[in-house]
Amino acid sequence: MFSKRPFIVAGPCSIESFDQLKKVVQHLSENNKVHLIRCGVWKPRTQPGGFEGMGEVALRWIADLKNIFPNTMFAVEVAQPKHIELCLKYNIDVFWIGARTSGNPFSMSELSECIKGVNNVPIMIKNPPFPDVKLWAGAIERMKNIGVERIAAIHRGFYSHNNCGYRNNPLWEIPIELKRIMPELPIICDPSHIAGDAKLVPTVAQTAMDMNFDGLMIEVHSDPQLALTDKHQQLSCQEFDALINKLNVKNNNTSADIELSLLRKNIDALDDELLQTLAKRFEIVRQIAKIKNSNNLSVLQIDRWNEVLNKTICKAEEMKISTDFIRKIMEQIHAESVRIQCNNEWKSDKPAKE
Ligand code: PEP
Ligand code: MN
Repeated sequence: MFSKRPFIVAGPCSIESFDQLKKVVQHLSENNKVHLIRCGVWKPRTQPGGFEGMGEVALRWIADLKNIFPNTMFAVEVAQPKHIELCLKYNIDVFWIGARTSGNPFSMSELSECIKGVNNVPIMIKNPPFPDVKLWAGAIERMKNIGVERIAAIHRGFYSHNNCGYRNNPLWEIPIELKRIMPELPIICDPSHIAGDAKLVPTVAQTAMDMNFDGLMIEVHSDPQLALTDKHQQLSCQEFDALINKLNVKNNNTSADIELSLLRKNIDALDDELLQTLAKRFEIVRQIAKIKNSNNLSVLQIDRWNEVLNKTICKAEEMKISTDFIRKIMEQIHAESVRIQCNNEWKSDKPAKE
């Protein structure tokens, strides 16, 4: 089910009318890069009084569109057992579990009881609103435990009380950790709910591709300005086409890429350590300069320099690092130490401008 790469899910945040749904489905079903239509039937709203979705009538509209577009598959968010019963009644192809539900173990266990043994519907599970990878993995495990075979995770970012530039903070390290503990699990990125702004959706989508996510879930509306939910982040059909056409999809080598990104994190940490060590070394050079100055000693002391160089080269040899390379590095470091001492730079804390 989720093996096509990138697996593209697209469609409106909410189904609002038959016409709105038909327009967007017609457009997306003609795009051979779209594998699944997403469409919200019951909407979890932060505050009461807003549009909460069309409910069962929208499932009937999906069933009607399945007759018109027989090769098109539909996904609907389910949050309660009655949603599952109705989706099964209308042959919805894929269910997804939203952020507010996946973070609630009571709801997850209630939903898994309801899905158990019914049939083998593929399920996509969004991350909980807070960055707890174990809670996300736990929701996925509950579905695995009742025998659901086709599962994908959806990364939709995390609640952030600081302004992180997006609606939800992507915290990419969380889905990377999920991939590390569940390497076979496809992870789809939802740039619409991360970005919260249609203009930023393509950049987040490309970042997800650069990080080798398995797919994208993108909100597309026939007329975003009139949308009843998430109007700022939904793309028009033309904006969606432009995004898909410009997307640069990387080679499919997920495990190598994850391994590389973990190793690069280590490299970054070591580079930081190298810089900190150099900063500490130059601080000691400044202290030495003060002592030499007050005792009227020369800056360059050739015996000491020979001793430092020989000792470092011997150690480098033991550690199987090229001695030529280490000689060059040490010469540069020593030249900088001499420069600091000769320029009287040690009298102030700040390095002199080049
Ligand atoms: C949605 O996909 O429209 C939705 C409500 O998303 P989330 O659960 O990520 O907030
Ligand atoms: Mn939405």
